[in-house]
Amino acid sequence: MAEEKLSFQAEVSKLLDIVVHSLYSNKEIFLRELISNASDACDKLRYAGLTQPEILSGNGEFRIVITPDKVARTLSVSDNGIGMNRADLVENLGTIARSGTSNFLSQLTGDARKDVSLIGQFGVGFYSAFMVAERVEVISRKAGEEQGWRWESDGQGEFTVAEEPSAERGTRIVLHMREGDTEFLEGYRLRHIVKTYSDHIGLPVFLVEDGKEDAVNSASALWTRPKSEISKEQYTEFYHHVAHAFDEPWLTLHYKAEGAIEYTGLLYIPGQKPLDIFHPDRKQHVKLYVKRVYITDDCAELLPPYLRFVRGVVDSQDLPLNISREMLQHNPVLAKIRAGLVKRVLGELKKKAEDAEGGYGGFWDTFGAVLKEGLYEDFERRDEILDLCRFRTTGSDEPISLASYLERMKEGQDAIYFITGDEIGALKKSPQLEGFIAKGVEVLLLTDPIDEFWPNAIGKYREKAFQSAAQGAADLSSVKAPEGGEDKRPEPLEGDELAALLAAFKLALGEQVKDVRGSERLTESPVCLVADEGDVGMHLERLLRQHQQVEKRAPRILEVNPRHSLIRRLAAEAKREGAADRLADAAWLLFDQARIVEGEVLPDPASFARRLSLMLERGV
Ligand code: ADP
Ligand code: MG
Repeated sequence: MAEEKLSFQAEVSKLLDIVVHSLYSNKEIFLRELISNASDACDKLRYAGLTQPEILSGNGEFRIVITPDKVARTLSVSDNGIGMNRADLVENLGTIARSGTSNFLSQLTGDARKDVSLIGQFGVGFYSAFMVAERVEVISRKAGEEQGWRWESDGQGEFTVAEEPSAERGTRIVLHMREGDTEFLEGYRLRHIVKTYSDHIGLPVFLVEDGKEDAVNSASALWTRPKSEISKEQYTEFYHHVAHAFDEPWLTLHYKAEGAIEYTGLLYIPGQKPLDIFHPDRKQHVKLYVKRVYITDDCAELLPPYLRFVRGVVDSQDLPLNISREMLQHNPVLAKIRAGLVKRVLGELKKKAEDAEGGYGGFWDTFGAVLKEGLYEDFERRDEILDLCRFRTTGSDEPISLASYLERMKEGQDAIYFITGDEIGALKKSPQLEGFIAKGVEVLLLTDPIDEFWPNAIGKYREKAFQSAAQGAADLSSVKAPEGGEDKRPEPLEGDELAALLAAFKLALGEQVKDVRGSERLTESPVCLVADEGDVGMHLERLLRQHQQVEKRAPRILEVNPRHSLIRRLAAEAKREGAADRLADAAWLLFDQARIVEGEVLPDPASFARRLSLMLERGV
């Protein structure tokens, strides 16, 4: 087959353009990326060889070889791993399949400096070769196949693929270095880079100098070494490799479980939110090894979805080496490992949460919404997870624990109040909260989608029920007013005056509301909407509507503030003859206004505008 010319996927071109033109200060990381890929490729072939030994064709001594050539100005990095065929080359080196890519690219600003720091977080893997090379050749032959291939590109929008009869099993990457980047052909420099970034790789990396091969790294998998012999930098480098991440890990947890089940865990919690954390496939990202042999990075049984932010490796002594991915489902050994991992991770989070210097607040901001999923996914550990949760409240901009909430409860208060919405600022202004704020009763402000589900599923925390402040009746009468603050509000309307007004409103609004009633919830606002006990909450209904999950709107209860001067005047109006039309207009205006405050879209904005103009006209 003759040479074929193909175009990079648009996203790759965009990325390459930034990589090539940015003045990336840390160019040397290209070598880490190529070694990391080579090591992954060897891991994959080692695993395939467990069930199909013939695929190794007698060459199972995995290795990576780095060869600089100052005369030709090339640097080659080769491995004898799984290799790539034509389709693999086109797919893997011509597109970006990673989830979160388009999200990432949409954040790029065109400002070189900002974009480089973004790339630092995202990582460009193989494409980082173009930071130092003006041309890159990839010569590869896939294990078990006869035909080899050559991929070649200058990173300018196109690449070529052609047959390459001389290719050996595995992959050789040849970098034709840019004139300014010849430092990467110096032996001492390469040695230093490998030591710094790739010492933890579990297979030997050789450097060829003056025709001699010399092993440069320690070549023992990092997690098998004793903790005392591993530096913080080495832990971080391994995190970068195993998590394909570029930030500093927030938490590093390295331990050996001994006893009935033996395994080693080297786990990390990232410092920054990975781009795909809310991607619907919710993959977990801890790699499974058995006796140091890589098995899979896609083992859903290893950790529950609510811990999917954890990265790292687990190496088991007890699973059989030739275990297939299918056999991992419902495996009792794996179930025990999973229970152990969950216990360790939650235990470590607890320690961090109790340590004022531990930076738990930052962790919570980044991953709290994910961890909270455990509140209804993991029934057994619900209380443990609740203790780890933090909440912003009407009384605290700093997230607090439920234990502190309980300590701050008012005398006579017997529920944990919460309200759900899209955004803290808007939530704080909710009319439903006015009465709570006046009485000094703290309300949890919940803004994650998951918050719509767990409070009802859980019911109680240490004997106190969770109760929505925007749903059902709010009985705050048993709560004492704050010290020295006797009720300074105006007297409420008389019972029958109020009843007449409520009746007039009900008549006007008909089926649109479930009820109209007087409220103790309000201080400033004349009206607000609440959901009836047992109905879908208002915020949840809006979320469901946005996702086309429901179409109907459940009728709400309109609550009226019997102490508000507008309500008093409307009540006086209600006594007069022939006021029905004006009262109906007022009822609709107040109802629509309450819906706007809720963030609802008015079903009939034209009528709202007409009534408002009419009222204004009467006023002036
Ligand atoms: P990542 O390693 O995060 O997947 P890269 O850009 O580093 O992203 O690599 C893209 C893909 O190209 C890899 O996932 C792998 O499938 C393939 N690849 C890269 N280098 C090699 C190699 N040396 N041997 C086999 N496949 C490779
Ligand atoms: Mg890579």
